[in-house]
Amino acid sequence: MSIEVLDVSKTFDSYKALTDINLKINTGELVALLGPSGSGKTTLLRIIAGLETADKGSIIFDGEDNTQKSTQDRKVGFVFQHYALFKHMTVFENIAFGLKVRPSKFRPSKSALADKVHELLSLVKMEELANRYPAQLSGGQRQRIALARALAVEPKVLLLDEPFGALDAKVRKDLRRWLRKLHDEYPITSVFVTHDQEEALDVADRIVIFNQGKMEQIGTPEEVYNNPVNPFVYDFLGDVNLFHGRVHDGKVELGSLKLDVPENVGTENENVISYIRPHDIEVSVNAGGNFIEAQILYIRAVGPIVNLELKRLDSGDYIEAEISKEVYRTLDLKENQKVYLKPKEYKVYTPDDYMI
Ligand code: ADP
Ligand code: MG
Repeated sequence: MSIEVLDVSKTFDSYKALTDINLKINTGELVALLGPSGSGKTTLLRIIAGLETADKGSIIFDGEDNTQKSTQDRKVGFVFQHYALFKHMTVFENIAFGLKVRPSKFRPSKSALADKVHELLSLVKMEELANRYPAQLSGGQRQRIALARALAVEPKVLLLDEPFGALDAKVRKDLRRWLRKLHDEYPITSVFVTHDQEEALDVADRIVIFNQGKMEQIGTPEEVYNNPVNPFVYDFLGDVNLFHGRVHDGKVELGSLKLDVPENVGTENENVISYIRPHDIEVSVNAGGNFIEAQILYIRAVGPIVNLELKRLDSGDYIEAEISKEVYRTLDLKENQKVYLKPKEYKVYTPDDYMI
């Protein structure tokens, strides 16, 4: 089932929660709606579900206009952050619930129902827990049951609103890997809301980035991470260093550093900002070439990646760099040492890019 969002806007009182949203989600795709809190993600999910009415625009499922249809008729499945399972029912009964309450005409036989529940328990890898009660499950297990319950009625679309938001970091990581795998096995068109960029980059086929009710960018994780269309997206998708500079003679001057820029970025003397991710900075103990001088303030060498906190010697600005443990050992870096920084990858934005 494909989903098309056409020209959707939504205002609460006078607050514009969504402005002119256009989006096509392909059949079987897992799309993440990513953005800071309050950017309109849940509102869009609720409009897709029919739980909220848009001021204008339409929701199309497989080419058919569903804008006026009820939630029930849209056949969507839901998983929320706090999806309360029925406490007095076992895992088995929770998953079976949606099928049991169907009108008798559509209700499966007892054995067909049991088969279906076991199939779902196997899909979410929870077969051995069928007779437990929700209180006897961990948070991660409860969300897996919530997902099995949502899938039981064979929805055409699965909508997940921060489903792992209430769980701790380690469990969240396990669950998103699990969801990715589940989605490969059971490719139902899914829309996944999150404010966690790592989660979106990890799990989604494509990511839609929201900011203040507007779509900033849509693309695969690689596309949006490697080619952020504006500073907001760049900033939102990961750690970043900002360098203020000026265009001169076709290059961007950032203090002592001169960077080549794409032809269309900036006119002579224009102020620009260059964005450089910590892992895109080469740290060297030799001057030579094009560099910025900096002093190492702090080294954090836990794990395979070594984080350096540095201070630019020309401007006094702080910079973060990430290098491998191998490079760190080879260079034999120490705190207070002077080093030379060379950006490997960077992106330059002009003030126009900030008009967002
Ligand atoms: P997100 O899910 O991205 O955090 P929401 O879609 O929940 O954002 O909300 C977007 C904006 O719309 C927020 O400022 C929120 O306060 C407002 N909003 C959402 N639902 C309502 C409502 N029912 N009444 C009034 N304002 C709302
Ligand atoms: Mg929300």
